[in-house]
Amino acid sequence: MQHWLKDLQRKPKLLLVDDQRINILTLHELFREECDIFMAMNGEQALETCRKSLPDLILLDVHMEGIDGHEVCRRLKKDPETHDIPVIFVTAQGAEEDEVLGLELGAVDFIVKPINPTIVRARVNTHLTLKYQSDLLRSLALLDGLTGVANRRKFDEELGRTWRQSLREKTELSIIMIDIDYFKRYNDHYGHLRGDTCLQSVAGALEAAVNRPYDLLARYGGEEFVCLLPNTHLKGAVVVAERMQACVRALQLEHADSGIGQVVTVSMGVATMTANSTDGAQVLLEAADRQLYKAKQAGRACIRSGI
Ligand SMILES: [Mg+2]
Repeated sequence: MQHWLKDLQRKPKLLLVDDQRINILTLHELFREECDIFMAMNGEQALETCRKSLPDLILLDVHMEGIDGHEVCRRLKKDPETHDIPVIFVTAQGAEEDEVLGLELGAVDFIVKPINPTIVRARVNTHLTLKYQSDLLRSLALLDGLTGVANRRKFDEELGRTWRQSLREKTELSIIMIDIDYFKRYNDHYGHLRGDTCLQSVAGALEAAVNRPYDLLARYGGEEFVCLLPNTHLKGAVVVAERMQACVRALQLEHADSGIGQVVTVSMGVATMTANSTDGAQVLLEAADRQLYKAKQAGRACIRSGI
Protein backbone atom coordinates (compact mmCIF):
# COMPACT_ATOMS: atom_id res chain seq x y z
CA MET A 1 0.00 0.00 0.00
CA GLN A 2 1.21 3.53 -0.75
CA HIS A 3 2.50 5.25 2.36
CA TRP A 4 0.29 8.29 1.86
CA LEU A 5 -2.77 5.98 1.95
CA LYS A 6 -1.49 4.22 5.05
CA ASP A 7 -1.09 7.68 6.56
CA LEU A 8 -4.88 8.10 6.48
CA GLN A 9 -5.35 5.30 9.00
CA ARG A 10 -3.66 7.20 11.82
CA LYS A 11 -5.29 9.36 14.51
CA PRO A 12 -6.08 12.90 13.35
CA LYS A 13 -3.51 15.56 14.34
CA LEU A 14 -4.99 18.56 16.12
CA LEU A 15 -3.00 21.73 16.83
CA LEU A 16 -4.17 23.93 19.73
CA VAL A 17 -2.90 27.51 19.72
CA ASP A 18 -3.63 29.88 22.60
CA ASP A 19 -1.54 32.22 24.75
CA GLN A 20 -3.54 31.19 27.87
CA ARG A 21 -2.44 27.84 29.25
CA ILE A 22 -5.86 27.14 30.78
CA ASN A 23 -7.57 27.38 27.36
CA ILE A 24 -5.14 24.88 25.87
CA LEU A 25 -5.62 22.50 28.79
CA THR A 26 -9.42 22.65 28.47
CA LEU A 27 -9.26 21.78 24.77
CA HIS A 28 -6.59 19.14 25.36
CA GLU A 29 -8.88 17.42 27.86
CA LEU A 30 -11.70 17.32 25.29
CA PHE A 31 -9.72 15.76 22.44
CA ARG A 32 -6.82 13.82 23.94
CA GLU A 33 -8.55 10.46 23.48
CA GLU A 34 -9.29 10.63 19.77
CA CYS A 35 -6.57 12.99 18.50
CA ASP A 36 -2.81 13.40 18.51
CA ILE A 37 -2.53 16.82 20.14
CA PHE A 38 0.08 19.48 19.35
CA MET A 39 0.23 22.72 21.31
CA ALA A 40 1.61 26.21 20.75
CA MET A 41 1.42 29.31 22.94
CA ASN A 42 2.31 31.95 20.36
CA GLY A 43 2.23 32.61 16.64
CA GLU A 44 5.86 31.67 15.91
CA GLN A 45 5.50 28.31 17.65
CA ALA A 46 2.23 27.69 15.81
CA LEU A 47 3.81 28.30 12.38
CA GLU A 48 6.79 26.12 13.19
CA THR A 49 4.63 23.24 14.44
CA CYS A 50 2.45 23.50 11.34
CA ARG A 51 5.40 23.17 8.98
CA LYS A 52 6.92 20.29 10.96
CA SER A 53 3.85 18.26 11.87
CA LEU A 54 1.24 19.23 9.25
CA PRO A 55 -1.81 19.00 11.54
CA ASP A 56 -5.24 18.06 10.15
CA LEU A 57 -6.95 20.93 11.94
CA ILE A 58 -5.94 24.02 13.93
CA LEU A 59 -7.86 25.70 16.73
CA LEU A 60 -6.35 29.17 16.60
CA ASP A 61 -6.71 31.90 19.20
CA VAL A 62 -7.12 35.32 17.56
CA HIS A 63 -5.58 37.53 20.23
CA MET A 64 -1.94 36.79 21.08
CA GLU A 65 1.17 38.91 21.65
CA GLY A 66 3.49 39.17 18.62
CA ILE A 67 2.12 37.33 15.59
CA ASP A 68 -1.62 37.15 16.23
CA GLY A 69 -4.03 34.48 15.01
CA HIS A 70 -5.06 36.36 11.88
CA GLU A 71 -1.44 36.78 10.82
CA VAL A 72 -0.73 33.08 11.49
CA CYS A 73 -3.66 32.17 9.25
CA ARG A 74 -2.52 34.60 6.55
CA ARG A 75 0.95 33.01 6.48
CA LEU A 76 -0.38 29.44 6.51
CA LYS A 77 -2.61 30.17 3.53
CA LYS A 78 0.32 31.66 1.59
CA ASP A 79 2.55 28.59 2.03
CA PRO A 80 1.73 25.74 -0.41
CA GLU A 81 2.73 23.18 2.24
CA THR A 82 0.25 24.43 4.85
CA HIS A 83 -2.33 26.01 2.56
CA ASP A 84 -4.87 23.18 2.90
CA ILE A 85 -4.84 22.84 6.69
CA PRO A 86 -8.27 23.93 7.94
CA VAL A 87 -8.31 26.65 10.60
CA ILE A 88 -11.01 27.26 13.22
CA PHE A 89 -10.63 30.60 14.98
CA VAL A 90 -11.29 30.91 18.68
CA THR A 91 -12.69 34.40 19.30
CA ALA A 92 -13.99 36.41 22.23
CA GLN A 93 -17.74 36.78 22.61
CA GLY A 94 -19.27 39.61 20.58
CA ALA A 95 -16.14 40.17 18.47
CA GLU A 96 -17.98 40.10 15.16
CA GLU A 97 -15.19 41.93 13.28
CA ASP A 98 -12.73 39.20 14.28
CA GLU A 99 -15.07 36.60 12.88
CA VAL A 100 -15.60 38.42 9.60
CA LEU A 101 -11.88 38.94 9.09
CA GLY A 102 -11.18 35.31 10.05
CA LEU A 103 -13.60 33.95 7.49
CA GLU A 104 -12.18 36.30 4.86
CA LEU A 105 -8.72 34.93 5.61
CA GLY A 106 -9.93 31.43 4.79
CA ALA A 107 -10.91 29.99 8.19
CA VAL A 108 -13.49 27.19 7.94
CA ASP A 109 -15.30 28.08 11.16
CA PHE A 110 -15.04 29.91 14.48
CA ILE A 111 -15.72 29.11 18.12
CA VAL A 112 -16.60 31.63 20.80
CA LYS A 113 -14.93 31.78 24.22
CA PRO A 114 -15.74 30.72 26.91
CA ILE A 115 -15.76 27.35 25.24
CA ASN A 116 -18.87 25.20 25.19
CA PRO A 117 -17.57 21.59 25.06
CA THR A 118 -20.52 20.19 23.08
CA ILE A 119 -20.26 22.86 20.39
CA VAL A 120 -16.48 22.63 20.11
CA ARG A 121 -16.59 18.85 19.88
CA ALA A 122 -19.26 18.90 17.17
CA ARG A 123 -17.43 21.49 15.09
CA VAL A 124 -14.04 19.85 15.43
CA ASN A 125 -15.46 16.43 14.52
CA THR A 126 -17.23 17.85 11.48
CA HIS A 127 -14.08 19.47 10.15
CA LEU A 128 -11.88 16.47 10.91
CA THR A 129 -14.32 14.28 8.97
CA LEU A 130 -14.30 16.70 6.04
CA LYS A 131 -10.50 16.80 6.12
CA TYR A 132 -10.29 13.00 6.16
CA GLN A 133 -12.68 12.69 3.24
CA SER A 134 -10.86 15.26 1.14
CA ASP A 135 -7.49 13.62 1.94
CA LEU A 136 -8.89 10.23 0.95
CA LEU A 137 -10.34 11.52 -2.33
CA ARG A 138 -7.12 13.33 -3.12
CA SER A 139 -5.07 10.19 -2.43
CA LEU A 140 -7.26 8.03 -4.65
CA ALA A 141 -7.02 10.63 -7.42
CA LEU A 142 -3.24 10.31 -7.23
CA LEU A 143 -3.09 6.53 -7.75
CA ASP A 144 -2.50 4.85 -11.09
CA GLY A 145 -5.61 2.73 -11.62
CA LEU A 146 -3.87 -0.18 -13.34
CA THR A 147 -0.75 -0.70 -11.25
CA GLY A 148 -1.71 0.79 -7.87
CA VAL A 149 1.46 2.90 -7.67
CA ALA A 150 1.41 6.71 -7.73
CA ASN A 151 0.33 8.37 -10.97
CA ARG A 152 2.00 11.12 -12.97
CA ARG A 153 0.12 13.87 -11.15
CA LYS A 154 1.32 12.67 -7.76
CA PHE A 155 4.86 12.45 -9.11
CA ASP A 156 4.77 16.01 -10.46
CA GLU A 157 3.46 17.26 -7.12
CA GLU A 158 6.11 15.39 -5.11
CA LEU A 159 8.88 16.45 -7.47
CA GLY A 160 7.95 20.10 -6.86
CA ARG A 161 7.79 19.54 -3.11
CA THR A 162 11.06 17.60 -2.76
CA TRP A 163 12.79 20.06 -5.09
CA ARG A 164 11.82 22.93 -2.77
CA GLN A 165 13.03 20.82 0.15
CA SER A 166 16.37 20.21 -1.57
CA LEU A 167 16.71 23.95 -2.22
CA ARG A 168 15.97 24.74 1.42
CA GLU A 169 18.13 22.07 3.01
CA LYS A 170 20.87 21.86 0.35
CA THR A 171 20.40 18.10 0.05
CA GLU A 172 20.81 15.94 -3.03
CA LEU A 173 17.77 14.66 -4.88
CA SER A 174 17.89 11.65 -7.21
CA ILE A 175 15.59 10.37 -9.94
CA ILE A 176 15.49 6.96 -11.62
CA MET A 177 13.67 6.73 -14.98
CA ILE A 178 12.63 3.19 -15.82
CA ASP A 179 11.42 1.79 -19.14
CA ILE A 180 10.30 -1.77 -19.93
CA ASP A 181 12.39 -3.01 -22.86
CA TYR A 182 10.56 -3.78 -26.12
CA PHE A 183 7.16 -3.43 -24.49
CA LYS A 184 5.43 -2.74 -27.79
CA ARG A 185 6.67 -6.11 -29.05
CA TYR A 186 5.36 -7.68 -25.83
CA ASN A 187 1.89 -6.26 -26.47
CA ASP A 188 1.99 -7.30 -30.14
CA HIS A 189 3.00 -10.84 -29.21
CA TYR A 190 0.87 -11.50 -26.11
CA GLY A 191 -2.00 -8.99 -26.46
CA HIS A 192 -2.93 -6.00 -24.34
CA LEU A 193 -4.45 -7.93 -21.43
CA ARG A 194 -1.19 -9.78 -20.84
CA GLY A 195 0.51 -6.42 -21.38
CA ASP A 196 -1.49 -4.98 -18.47
CA THR A 197 -0.57 -7.92 -16.25
CA CYS A 198 3.07 -7.41 -17.17
CA LEU A 199 2.87 -3.74 -16.16
CA GLN A 200 1.32 -4.73 -12.83
CA SER A 201 4.01 -7.33 -12.13
CA VAL A 202 6.84 -4.98 -13.03
CA ALA A 203 5.33 -2.19 -10.87
CA GLY A 204 5.14 -4.62 -7.95
CA ALA A 205 8.77 -5.69 -8.43
CA LEU A 206 9.97 -2.08 -8.66
CA GLU A 207 8.04 -1.14 -5.56
CA ALA A 208 9.52 -4.07 -3.62
CA ALA A 209 12.95 -2.54 -4.29
CA VAL A 210 12.03 0.84 -2.76
CA ASN A 211 12.46 0.68 1.00
CA ARG A 212 12.18 4.12 2.56
CA PRO A 213 8.65 5.47 3.13
CA TYR A 214 9.47 8.87 1.62
CA ASP A 215 10.79 7.45 -1.66
CA LEU A 216 8.16 7.54 -4.38
CA LEU A 217 7.59 5.15 -7.27
CA ALA A 218 5.18 6.39 -9.91
CA ARG A 219 3.92 5.35 -13.33
CA TYR A 220 5.18 8.04 -15.62
CA GLY A 221 3.13 6.95 -18.60
CA GLY A 222 2.74 3.86 -20.83
CA GLU A 223 5.51 1.43 -19.91
CA GLU A 224 7.60 4.11 -18.16
CA PHE A 225 8.03 4.40 -14.41
CA VAL A 226 9.92 6.94 -12.36
CA CYS A 227 11.33 6.84 -8.84
CA LEU A 228 11.99 9.92 -6.73
CA LEU A 229 14.62 9.57 -3.99
CA PRO A 230 14.91 12.61 -1.69
CA ASN A 231 18.13 13.14 0.23
CA THR A 232 20.00 10.54 -1.86
CA HIS A 233 23.35 10.84 -3.65
CA LEU A 234 24.06 9.27 -7.03
CA LYS A 235 25.73 6.14 -5.65
CA GLY A 236 22.79 5.48 -3.32
CA ALA A 237 20.34 5.90 -6.20
CA VAL A 238 22.33 3.47 -8.37
CA VAL A 239 22.11 0.89 -5.56
CA VAL A 240 18.31 1.25 -5.60
CA ALA A 241 18.31 0.95 -9.42
CA GLU A 242 20.38 -2.25 -9.23
CA ARG A 243 17.97 -3.67 -6.68
CA MET A 244 15.10 -2.83 -9.05
CA GLN A 245 16.87 -4.60 -11.90
CA ALA A 246 17.31 -7.67 -9.73
CA CYS A 247 13.64 -7.68 -8.63
CA VAL A 248 12.38 -7.40 -12.24
CA ARG A 249 14.74 -10.16 -13.40
CA ALA A 250 13.58 -12.39 -10.54
CA LEU A 251 10.04 -12.25 -11.98
CA GLN A 252 11.33 -14.26 -14.98
CA LEU A 253 8.43 -13.00 -17.11
CA GLU A 254 8.61 -14.62 -20.52
CA HIS A 255 9.13 -12.21 -23.42
CA ALA A 256 9.71 -14.30 -26.53
CA ASP A 257 10.36 -11.29 -28.82
CA SER A 258 12.64 -9.32 -26.53
CA GLY A 259 15.91 -10.58 -27.93
CA ILE A 260 17.40 -10.14 -24.43
CA GLY A 261 17.33 -13.60 -22.83
CA GLN A 262 13.61 -13.90 -23.72
CA VAL A 263 12.52 -12.40 -20.40
CA VAL A 264 11.10 -8.99 -19.50
CA THR A 265 13.88 -6.53 -18.65
CA VAL A 266 14.07 -2.80 -17.88
CA SER A 267 16.44 0.02 -18.87
CA MET A 268 17.16 2.75 -16.34
CA GLY A 269 18.60 6.24 -16.23
CA VAL A 270 19.74 7.74 -12.93
CA ALA A 271 20.53 11.40 -12.21
CA THR A 272 21.20 13.45 -9.07
CA MET A 273 21.17 17.17 -8.32
CA THR A 274 21.12 19.61 -5.45
CA ALA A 275 18.45 22.20 -6.18
CA ASN A 276 19.99 25.58 -7.03
CA SER A 277 17.02 27.51 -8.36
CA THR A 278 13.29 27.41 -7.71
CA ASP A 279 12.36 26.17 -11.18
CA GLY A 280 15.10 23.63 -12.03
CA ALA A 281 13.28 20.36 -11.27
CA GLN A 282 12.69 19.81 -14.97
CA VAL A 283 16.46 19.85 -15.59
CA LEU A 284 16.91 16.89 -13.22
CA LEU A 285 14.13 14.98 -14.94
CA GLU A 286 15.70 15.62 -18.34
CA ALA A 287 19.09 14.48 -17.04
CA ALA A 288 17.59 11.17 -15.90
CA ASP A 289 15.85 10.83 -19.25
CA ARG A 290 19.16 11.37 -21.09
CA GLN A 291 20.73 8.59 -19.01
CA LEU A 292 17.80 6.32 -19.84
CA TYR A 293 18.42 7.03 -23.52
CA LYS A 294 22.08 6.08 -23.06
CA ALA A 295 21.04 2.81 -21.38
CA LYS A 296 18.91 2.01 -24.41
CA GLN A 297 21.72 2.90 -26.80
CA ALA A 298 23.99 0.60 -24.80
CA GLY A 299 21.78 -2.41 -25.58
CA ARG A 300 19.02 -2.06 -22.94
CA ALA A 301 18.53 -4.12 -19.72
CA CYS A 302 21.13 -1.91 -18.02
CA ILE A 303 21.61 1.22 -15.90
CA ARG A 304 23.30 4.47 -16.88
CA SER A 305 23.91 7.27 -14.40
CA GLY A 306 25.31 10.79 -14.29
CA ILE A 307 24.20 14.31 -15.15
MG1 LIG B 1 -5.44 35.08 23.61
